[in-house]
Amino acid sequence: MKINIAIDGYSSCGKSTLAKLLSQKLEYNYIDTGAMYRSVTLYLMNQGIIKDGKVTLETVIKSLDEIDVTFKFNSVKNQSDTYLNGVNVEDEIRSPEISSLVSGISKIREVRQKLIALQQKIAKHKAIVMDGRDIGTAVLPDAEVKFFVTADLEIRTQRRFDELEAKGYNYSFSKVKQNLLERDHSDTSRKENPLTQAEDAILLDNTELTITELVELAHEYVLNKLNNPKN
Ligand code: C5P
Repeated sequence: MKINIAIDGYSSCGKSTLAKLLSQKLEYNYIDTGAMYRSVTLYLMNQGIIKDGKVTLETVIKSLDEIDVTFKFNSVKNQSDTYLNGVNVEDEIRSPEISSLVSGISKIREVRQKLIALQQKIAKHKAIVMDGRDIGTAVLPDAEVKFFVTADLEIRTQRRFDELEAKGYNYSFSKVKQNLLERDHSDTSRKENPLTQAEDAILLDNTELTITELVELAHEYVLNKLNNPKN
């Protein structure tokens, strides 16, 4: 039996790492929906459609048909890379500039409709671990297992800060924290599919767990579901 697994949570709470490792353990495909919103944002930025952090709704809607986001497995990294119109944008979409713009774009209804339809199509044949903000509530409400990951804000900031530093970016701790707070606020308060824990999602608090412990815990829940599908 193959199932779908939905993982939602706040920015930098460790959900992507969990999703990646869990998918490898289960030999499932991992779909990073944040990468899709980031790719759309990158396209709009490169086309000059985002000006001073703002967009004209009509122009965004018109350009959606020009945007194609796909994933291709990278055997060297043992994970999928994100492609925007055929170009590998895996690193570019993680820049602080995109991080600061993406929540403004992800709240646009037409953007969400396009990406949600694509995400649902990808997950149709099961064996998918998908992470994001609205997977358990809007994209895959029928996912057999749903997780909602949380972690203390200081821990999330430290994690993001370390990630950025490793990539050579020079951002202060408080600036990183500010971006997380802004994204949390925008993601939870937007009208379209706000980030919220699905009623049937299992809460995983990642504040005091190592990544190995977190993956083990989630894996146990999945095995339990696979062994007792009716529970
Ligand atoms: O997961 P990540 O931090 O890369 O996501 C970037 C942004 O994309 C989020 O802050 C959120 O605004 C948006 N997003 C979303 N719905 C998803 C995944 C991401 O709105 N399912």
